[in-house]
Amino acid sequence: MTVAVTLNGMTLPSWASHVEDKLAPMPLLLVQAFVDTVDQDLGTDIFADPDRARAWLADAGLRLPEPQNPGRPEPGFTDDLALAREARESIRALVGRNTGNEPLAPDDLAPLEKILGQAQPRLAVDADGLVRLGPTLPARALTDGLLGLLLIIRDAQADGSWDRLKLCSNPDCRWAFYDRSHSRRGAWCDMASCGNRVKNRNLRARRAQLS
Ligand SMILES: [Zn+2]
Repeated sequence: MTVAVTLNGMTLPSWASHVEDKLAPMPLLLVQAFVDTVDQDLGTDIFADPDRARAWLADAGLRLPEPQNPGRPEPGFTDDLALAREARESIRALVGRNTGNEPLAPDDLAPLEKILGQAQPRLAVDADGLVRLGPTLPARALTDGLLGLLLIIRDAQADGSWDRLKLCSNPDCRWAFYDRSHSRRGAWCDMASCGNRVKNRNLRARRAQLS
Protein backbone atom coordinates (compact mmCIF):
# COMPACT_ATOMS: atom_id res chain seq x y z
CA MET A 1 0.00 0.00 0.00
CA THR A 2 1.31 3.45 -0.86
CA VAL A 3 1.05 6.12 1.77
CA ALA A 4 0.79 9.87 1.75
CA VAL A 5 2.12 12.03 4.56
CA THR A 6 -0.14 14.62 6.18
CA LEU A 7 0.92 18.01 7.45
CA ASN A 8 1.31 16.74 11.00
CA GLY A 9 3.54 13.92 9.85
CA MET A 10 1.06 11.07 10.17
CA THR A 11 1.04 8.55 7.39
CA LEU A 12 -2.20 8.14 5.51
CA PRO A 13 -3.36 5.23 3.37
CA SER A 14 -3.37 6.25 -0.29
CA TRP A 15 -7.16 5.85 -0.46
CA ALA A 16 -7.53 8.64 2.14
CA SER A 17 -5.08 11.10 0.59
CA HIS A 18 -7.95 13.34 -0.62
CA VAL A 19 -9.27 13.85 2.94
CA GLU A 20 -6.15 15.61 4.33
CA ASP A 21 -7.65 17.11 7.50
CA LYS A 22 -9.95 16.29 10.44
CA LEU A 23 -9.41 12.59 9.92
CA ALA A 24 -11.41 9.89 11.67
CA PRO A 25 -9.47 7.11 13.40
CA MET A 26 -9.08 3.81 11.59
CA PRO A 27 -11.15 2.00 10.47
CA LEU A 28 -13.82 4.75 10.51
CA LEU A 29 -11.47 6.72 8.24
CA LEU A 30 -12.52 4.41 5.41
CA VAL A 31 -16.17 5.49 5.81
CA GLN A 32 -15.12 9.15 5.86
CA ALA A 33 -12.87 8.74 2.80
CA PHE A 34 -15.68 6.96 0.92
CA VAL A 35 -18.21 9.74 1.62
CA ASP A 36 -15.60 12.38 0.75
CA THR A 37 -14.75 10.90 -2.66
CA VAL A 38 -16.96 13.72 -3.94
CA ASP A 39 -16.05 17.30 -3.07
CA GLN A 40 -19.23 19.26 -3.70
CA ASP A 41 -17.55 22.55 -2.90
CA LEU A 42 -14.80 22.07 -5.48
CA GLY A 43 -17.03 20.12 -7.87
CA THR A 44 -14.63 17.15 -8.04
CA ASP A 45 -15.68 13.50 -7.84
CA ILE A 46 -13.36 10.49 -7.86
CA PHE A 47 -16.33 8.38 -9.00
CA ALA A 48 -17.03 10.63 -12.01
CA ASP A 49 -14.33 8.84 -13.97
CA PRO A 50 -14.89 5.04 -14.19
CA ASP A 51 -11.17 4.22 -14.35
CA ARG A 52 -10.39 6.39 -11.35
CA ALA A 53 -13.41 4.99 -9.47
CA ARG A 54 -12.33 1.41 -10.21
CA ALA A 55 -8.81 2.12 -9.01
CA TRP A 56 -9.98 3.87 -5.83
CA LEU A 57 -12.47 1.12 -4.90
CA ALA A 58 -9.76 -1.53 -5.41
CA ASP A 59 -7.17 0.48 -3.46
CA ALA A 60 -9.62 0.90 -0.57
CA GLY A 61 -10.28 -2.85 -0.57
CA LEU A 62 -13.97 -2.36 -1.35
CA ARG A 63 -13.85 -4.24 -4.63
CA LEU A 64 -11.36 -6.53 -6.32
CA PRO A 65 -9.91 -5.18 -9.54
CA GLU A 66 -11.10 -7.21 -12.49
CA PRO A 67 -8.57 -8.86 -14.78
CA GLN A 68 -7.21 -6.26 -17.13
CA ASN A 69 -8.98 -6.27 -20.46
CA PRO A 70 -7.85 -3.13 -22.20
CA GLY A 71 -10.49 -1.59 -24.40
CA ARG A 72 -13.26 -3.88 -23.24
CA PRO A 73 -15.93 -2.64 -20.88
CA GLU A 74 -16.02 -4.58 -17.66
CA PRO A 75 -19.36 -6.36 -17.23
CA GLY A 76 -21.22 -5.21 -14.16
CA PHE A 77 -19.00 -2.24 -13.41
CA THR A 78 -21.58 0.33 -14.54
CA ASP A 79 -24.05 -1.13 -12.02
CA ASP A 80 -21.36 -1.22 -9.32
CA LEU A 81 -20.45 2.39 -9.93
CA ALA A 82 -24.12 3.43 -9.73
CA LEU A 83 -24.50 1.52 -6.45
CA ALA A 84 -21.31 3.06 -5.06
CA ARG A 85 -22.62 6.56 -5.84
CA GLU A 86 -26.04 5.81 -4.30
CA ALA A 87 -24.53 4.20 -1.20
CA ARG A 88 -22.20 7.18 -0.80
CA GLU A 89 -25.20 9.53 -0.48
CA SER A 90 -27.03 7.08 1.82
CA ILE A 91 -24.03 6.95 4.14
CA ARG A 92 -23.73 10.75 3.92
CA ALA A 93 -27.35 10.88 5.13
CA LEU A 94 -26.42 8.55 8.01
CA VAL A 95 -23.52 10.84 8.98
CA GLY A 96 -25.89 13.80 8.67
CA ARG A 97 -27.94 12.46 11.56
CA ASN A 98 -24.95 13.29 13.79
CA THR A 99 -25.34 16.92 12.75
CA GLY A 100 -29.08 17.01 13.34
CA ASN A 101 -30.14 16.46 9.74
CA GLU A 102 -33.47 14.89 8.83
CA PRO A 103 -34.13 11.18 9.52
CA LEU A 104 -33.39 8.93 6.58
CA ALA A 105 -36.10 8.69 3.93
CA PRO A 106 -36.89 5.35 2.22
CA ASP A 107 -34.85 6.56 -0.79
CA ASP A 108 -31.83 7.03 1.47
CA LEU A 109 -32.19 3.54 2.90
CA ALA A 110 -32.91 1.67 -0.35
CA PRO A 111 -29.27 1.35 -1.55
CA LEU A 112 -28.23 0.10 1.89
CA GLU A 113 -31.02 -2.46 1.91
CA LYS A 114 -29.84 -3.62 -1.50
CA ILE A 115 -26.35 -4.12 -0.08
CA LEU A 116 -27.70 -5.97 2.97
CA GLY A 117 -29.74 -8.23 0.69
CA GLN A 118 -26.87 -9.14 -1.63
CA ALA A 119 -23.66 -9.09 0.40
CA GLN A 120 -21.95 -12.10 1.89
CA PRO A 121 -20.73 -11.29 5.41
CA ARG A 122 -17.05 -12.20 5.57
CA LEU A 123 -16.36 -12.78 9.22
CA ALA A 124 -13.44 -14.77 10.55
CA VAL A 125 -12.64 -16.02 14.05
CA ASP A 126 -8.94 -16.05 14.88
CA ALA A 127 -6.97 -18.24 17.28
CA ASP A 128 -7.41 -15.68 20.08
CA GLY A 129 -11.16 -15.97 19.69
CA LEU A 130 -11.57 -12.52 18.16
CA VAL A 131 -14.29 -12.14 15.56
CA ARG A 132 -12.99 -10.04 12.71
CA LEU A 133 -14.01 -8.87 9.32
CA GLY A 134 -12.20 -11.21 7.11
CA PRO A 135 -10.51 -13.41 6.33
CA THR A 136 -8.57 -10.50 4.86
CA LEU A 137 -9.66 -7.63 2.72
CA PRO A 138 -10.20 -6.86 -0.14
CA ALA A 139 -13.79 -7.73 -0.86
CA ARG A 140 -14.56 -9.81 -3.92
CA ALA A 141 -17.77 -7.99 -4.80
CA LEU A 142 -18.58 -4.33 -4.22
CA THR A 143 -21.63 -5.24 -2.11
CA ASP A 144 -19.32 -7.18 0.26
CA GLY A 145 -17.02 -4.18 0.53
CA LEU A 146 -19.92 -1.80 1.20
CA LEU A 147 -21.28 -4.19 3.83
CA GLY A 148 -17.87 -3.86 5.47
CA LEU A 149 -18.46 -0.09 5.68
CA LEU A 150 -21.78 -0.71 7.43
CA LEU A 151 -20.05 -3.02 9.93
CA ILE A 152 -17.42 -0.34 10.61
CA ILE A 153 -20.28 2.13 11.22
CA ARG A 154 -21.94 -0.33 13.57
CA ASP A 155 -18.73 -0.76 15.60
CA ALA A 156 -18.23 3.03 15.72
CA GLN A 157 -21.80 3.47 16.94
CA ALA A 158 -21.09 0.93 19.68
CA ASP A 159 -17.81 2.56 20.84
CA GLY A 160 -19.10 6.14 20.61
CA SER A 161 -16.68 7.41 17.95
CA TRP A 162 -19.49 7.58 15.37
CA ASP A 163 -21.02 10.72 16.95
CA ARG A 164 -17.90 12.70 16.08
CA LEU A 165 -18.20 12.00 12.35
CA LYS A 166 -20.18 14.95 11.00
CA LEU A 167 -21.16 16.77 7.84
CA CYS A 168 -19.96 20.31 7.24
CA SER A 169 -22.77 22.78 7.95
CA ASN A 170 -22.15 24.60 4.69
CA PRO A 171 -25.06 23.27 2.56
CA ASP A 172 -22.89 23.56 -0.57
CA CYS A 173 -20.16 21.45 1.00
CA ARG A 174 -21.49 18.64 3.26
CA TRP A 175 -17.95 17.23 3.56
CA ALA A 176 -17.60 14.51 6.19
CA PHE A 177 -15.15 15.50 8.94
CA TYR A 178 -14.17 14.09 12.30
CA ASP A 179 -14.78 16.48 15.18
CA ARG A 180 -12.00 16.01 17.75
CA SER A 181 -12.92 19.21 19.63
CA HIS A 182 -13.46 18.87 23.38
CA SER A 183 -16.88 20.49 23.14
CA ARG A 184 -17.88 18.29 20.16
CA ARG A 185 -19.52 21.36 18.65
CA GLY A 186 -17.46 21.65 15.49
CA ALA A 187 -19.69 22.56 12.56
CA TRP A 188 -17.36 23.18 9.62
CA CYS A 189 -14.94 21.06 7.61
CA ASP A 190 -12.76 24.14 7.63
CA MET A 191 -13.46 27.45 9.34
CA ALA A 192 -11.63 29.49 6.71
CA SER A 193 -13.22 27.91 3.64
CA CYS A 194 -16.75 27.11 4.89
CA GLY A 195 -17.34 28.60 8.33
CA ASN A 196 -16.50 32.18 7.46
CA ARG A 197 -18.16 31.94 4.08
CA VAL A 198 -21.48 30.83 5.60
CA LYS A 199 -21.18 33.35 8.42
CA ASN A 200 -20.55 36.14 5.93
CA ARG A 201 -23.44 34.93 3.81
CA ASN A 202 -25.77 34.90 6.84
CA LEU A 203 -24.55 38.34 7.83
CA ARG A 204 -25.23 39.67 4.33
CA ALA A 205 -28.70 38.08 4.39
CA ARG A 206 -29.51 39.70 7.74
CA ARG A 207 -28.28 43.07 6.52
CA ALA A 208 -30.35 42.70 3.37
CA GLN A 209 -33.43 41.99 5.49
CA LEU A 210 -32.77 45.03 7.67
CA SER A 211 -32.18 47.45 4.82
ZN1 LIG B 1 -17.19 22.53 4.35
